Amino acid sequence: MLLGGSENRSGREGATPTRNGNSPGAILHPAPVATLVGVNETAPGVDKVLLAAPRGFCAGVEMAIKALAWMVRAFEPPVYCYHEIVHNQIVVQRFENLGVVFVDDIDEVPEGMPIMLSAHGSAPDVVAAARRRGGYVVDAVCPLVTKVHHEVKTRADKGYQIVYVGHEGHEEAVGTMAVAPGAIHRVESPGEVEQLPDLDGPVAVLAQTTLSHREWSGVLDATRARFPEIWEPGRSDLCFATTNRQSALMEIAPRCDAMVVIGSANSSNTKALASLADEAGCPRVFRVNSPDELPDDLSGTVGVTAGASAPEDLVHEVIRCLSPRNGVDEIHVTNEDEYFPPPRNLRELLGAVDAAASVAFGGPHDGRVALDDRNIDASYVLESLAMTEADDTPDRHGL
Ligand code: SF4
Repeated sequence: MLLGGSENRSGREGATPTRNGNSPGAILHPAPVATLVGVNETAPGVDKVLLAAPRGFCAGVEMAIKALAWMVRAFEPPVYCYHEIVHNQIVVQRFENLGVVFVDDIDEVPEGMPIMLSAHGSAPDVVAAARRRGGYVVDAVCPLVTKVHHEVKTRADKGYQIVYVGHEGHEEAVGTMAVAPGAIHRVESPGEVEQLPDLDGPVAVLAQTTLSHREWSGVLDATRARFPEIWEPGRSDLCFATTNRQSALMEIAPRCDAMVVIGSANSSNTKALASLADEAGCPRVFRVNSPDELPDDLSGTVGVTAGASAPEDLVHEVIRCLSPRNGVDEIHVTNEDEYFPPPRNLRELLGAVDAAASVAFGGPHDGRVALDDRNIDASYVLESLAMTEADDTPDRHGL
């Protein structure tokens, strides 16, 4: 049984949440890249692929995708999501096909319907407006963005003016600036730091999590020069996932005849990867949404990586198209084992659903959450969603 926003499909108010108790338990990963060599001949000149690791989904995106998938499973459609869950059209499309409606204005959400707020972090008034709609609200903000929101609030409350390094109009920057709009000044370049007015009182500097080190360090130097007494966080706000993907790219880009960066044009960390490959001297750099956008004259050694919002099955498809004669070398610069659990209220909801299912099916009811979220890859979840669309069987593959 699924949950409705305020009413389920049968029209009963406050129905008991249950589901079939079919919690996945195995560690589920997409197919290994080693199986993807020599599948077709669309780019016969490619000798070898150097594949960056880490690449693709970060812990925050993993958490957000799985949270929305759990909501799709638990609630009657439509489930609403404020902003694109991640900046990737294929991911968004898969959820839309399952009845998720993405909105850019909370007023578009009917009263009482379930809403998820995206990983980018929402402005406090958006969170409050979502709660006022009266439906179930899951805030899937990445914990690393929450940390920056907290820093902004703490510094503003202490009377600081904040120089915030972030991209104009990016959802994360918009949400973060709304935490203390009267105290925050957004900049993107050293020139913009120069143009800031004189700031009264103490000054702090904070950043959008997905900036590249190069974007950040130039502006930081200019900010330090302009405001010598500036307060900085003990650790920069740039997130580990962004940094790791950039380090992996830097390891391979100088050795490649061309570099393919998989991800959307509106993904900040994807764009940062593409410009970094350029700066690293790679002669040809292509940002692609999918394999259809690959040029057909690639040759020699081709590097492949993916932004934090690009699913692993796209990486596999790109490698299939490149079909390197001498296979794929995966270059690991570090292991990433960070895990962000689903938002607390969603965990509680899913625990209640599991417990109800367990009792309904005569199993033990010891209050433990049967959900095994940690051991499921979001890429696997997405592949399962695609299969669910195909056979319209919502509980297939443990979803
Ligand atoms: S890129 Fe970093 S800050 Fe953004 S969602 Fe992923 S882990 Fe969180």
